[in-house]
Amino acid sequence: MAQIATFEKLLSELENSDKKYDLNKIKNAYEWARTLHEGQFRKSGEPYITHPLSVACIVAQLELDTDSVCAALLHDTLEDCKDKVTLETLTEMFGTETALLVDGLTKLPNVYFEDKEEASIENTRKLFLAMNHDIRVIFIKFADRLHNLRTLDAKSERSQRSIALETMHLYAPLAHRLGVQKIKSELENLALKYLDPIGFAEVKNDVELKYGQNKDFLEEAKSQILGKLTEVGIKNKLEGRVKSIYSIYKKMYNQNKSFDEIYDFYALRVIVETELECYAVLGIIHEMFNSIPGRFKDYISTPKP
Ligand code: MN
Repeated sequence: MAQIATFEKLLSELENSDKKYDLNKIKNAYEWARTLHEGQFRKSGEPYITHPLSVACIVAQLELDTDSVCAALLHDTLEDCKDKVTLETLTEMFGTETALLVDGLTKLPNVYFEDKEEASIENTRKLFLAMNHDIRVIFIKFADRLHNLRTLDAKSERSQRSIALETMHLYAPLAHRLGVQKIKSELENLALKYLDPIGFAEVKNDVELKYGQNKDFLEEAKSQILGKLTEVGIKNKLEGRVKSIYSIYKKMYNQNKSFDEIYDFYALRVIVETELECYAVLGIIHEMFNSIPGRFKDYISTPKP
């Protein structure tokens, strides 16, 4: 399960980053948030401060700036510690930017909806307003939602379901549009776990089994391709991964396929400078591996939207 965040963990995230952070300001934000949340606990029984700390860690992993990390630490104070803090206090202590980010996060929708369509339109509207104001608000919200999902077991079944639904309908597509793929697929996987626990467990099991049977496949394919590309002198960045549980699940469900009929279990991505190099790499890879007849799609000439 999720490991409990500490301030030391956050510091090490910040130090690992290429970005320069104002550690003093972050430390002050942490101390103040800890004071404000003193005596509050999460449903899981942990001190409340572990939540803003975890959110701040994710925000640091996303390489957002000092104000965003401070806002992540303070994101629940305006709402949960009303009698001890106001927007004015936050502005005085941490400046307008941090304060406005916290304010923006406080005003974001937190609706458990019954009527999916109507609530989702209203939430989307609020999200776009916030985005328009400061896009950082949405990225911090992704981090908040991600940590809530990672620790969703402690919540009632009803709120598990509505948080998972809202994530699937609103936050995951938005994360996809904003280009944070890692967040997007973790949001989807976690939401799926609560929306269809049996389906999730089945696919997860299949994935682990298949991956376990041929652990070296991905690394071997990568080094073969890399060797060839180096040989012909094409500068590239090579990434490999196993497709996410949700993307496999979706494919099985949408196309009514069994797990064994899913061919694109592994994904390799070669990033090059020009379109011409794209085709060169494609040619090399077709020479190395046989394509399955009828399964090849050329997204170079006809890109996805
Ligand atoms: Mn929160």
